[in-house]
Amino acid sequence: MKLIHETGWADPPSTAEQHLSGDIDCDIVVIGGGGGGMSAALRLAEKGVDVVLLEGQTLGWGASSRNAGYITNSIAADPEMLGLMLKPERLRNLYQFAENAVHFATDAISHHGIDCGYQQEGIVMAAVTKGQLRHARRNAKVMADAGSSAKFVEGREAGLPEGFLGGVREGVGGTLNPGEFTLGLRAATIASGVRVYEHTPALDLTDTCGEVRVKTASGRVRARKALLTTNAYSADLSSAPRNLATPVWTSLVETEPVAPERLDDIGWTSRAPMVTLHMILESYRVTPRGTIVFGTRRLQTGRNPLPHRTPAPNVADDLVRGFRERFPSLRDIKPQKAWGGWIGMSSTWLPVVGEASDNVLYSLACNGHGFAQAQYVGHLLADRISSAPLHEDLAAIWHGRKGFSPSLVGGAMLHAAWLADRASDRLATLTK
Ligand SMILES: Cc1cc2nc3c(=O)[nH]c(=O)nc-3n(C[C@H](O)[C@H](O)[C@H](O)COP(=O)(O)OP(=O)(O)OC[C@H]3O[C@@H](n4cnc5c(N)ncnc54)[C@H](O)[C@@H]3O)c2cc1C
Repeated sequence: MKLIHETGWADPPSTAEQHLSGDIDCDIVVIGGGGGGMSAALRLAEKGVDVVLLEGQTLGWGASSRNAGYITNSIAADPEMLGLMLKPERLRNLYQFAENAVHFATDAISHHGIDCGYQQEGIVMAAVTKGQLRHARRNAKVMADAGSSAKFVEGREAGLPEGFLGGVREGVGGTLNPGEFTLGLRAATIASGVRVYEHTPALDLTDTCGEVRVKTASGRVRARKALLTTNAYSADLSSAPRNLATPVWTSLVETEPVAPERLDDIGWTSRAPMVTLHMILESYRVTPRGTIVFGTRRLQTGRNPLPHRTPAPNVADDLVRGFRERFPSLRDIKPQKAWGGWIGMSSTWLPVVGEASDNVLYSLACNGHGFAQAQYVGHLLADRISSAPLHEDLAAIWHGRKGFSPSLVGGAMLHAAWLADRASDRLATLTK
């Protein structure tokens, strides 16, 4: 199995846009060109705003092109837990936000004519133990009460593979190739008239005397306002709120192609993409190229400046072990390559947006579920920064100017969660 630095979904762009050299002025500067930053810049250009987009690598290089490709209406935290902690109206608003984010992202595919293998197929939060199945029933109830379109399904009825007992099937969204999607969004952004500078990391951002100044290695941008969409890398910039995001490294593995009859034989007739209900989820999906992509299960924290890295060999091996346990009759299928990316985890595990200072807004809509949400938030933040009233979906995750407490997410805690998941797997095997 090859451990690779870039995304395994698509080749990087063949040419890069120019880097910034010299001093320029604009109305709004967007820092970070993932799905969030590109959507924001596209929206601003559509409104006729003079916008500059700065990206440290090439547009889409971060989590947006590396993720598992699930367009999901779930939020990172466990629904049952959220049901206990949040008021019903807040939960309803959060699920409304998440569902609208899915519609926004799927509309973007057709709006920009992006060929990225999108399949609307209902992701299943699937149970692999009886305990998880009971948990799934409770989650389905909490989500239905909160107005989500997700429903409980039995494994056989939902065409899930042997060993996957049932779960909560989302009523919207599905899967795509995120590498191809971000290449398409990049092309649309460049064509829209946004002034894009690639290989131009923002090194410093100040907001004084009613204007924003961004310093780069060989130039400066002066703007009226700025949007920070830098995800896990946010702590690189001193003007980002302290403790905004804990960087967490997440890994994926892709197998060689699997014959469709083999998937039918194990009962995976629906080919539904799945995430398990472990504390740290496992994800399994079939790709349009006939391979299986699986991931997460074991997470690692990092510190800014974040390294360009590959998955750790022991984590990739553990993922393969998990795949073979879940799909014993596919044990002969060979893993081909593994890659990963940095997720920014917020201290509440919920998506957040807010104000870093008078003229700087930030977004951290990810926590591993932000493929659609980051784009939707970018779009809404672009409206907000151009003085639109606060949209109700933005209000659902608005943090204002408040600070953040230090996150509880740490290496020891993530390792303990992995151990607890393995212990519950073992117990389930013993009590079968
Ligand atoms: C392995 C993996 C699997 C995942 N699976 C899923 C999934 O299936 N479904 C889902 O919904 N979500 C998933 N996620 C999460 C999802 O990908 C992210 O939440 C989402 O893409 C975040 O988008 P973004 O635009 O906020 O950040 P990013 O895509 O990370 O973009 C941030 C960009 O900012 C740039 N940048 C950073 N600092 C600077 C700077 N100082 N100056 C200029 N540029 C800068 C970076 O280079 C990067 O391109 C996954 C993430 C990973 C890593």
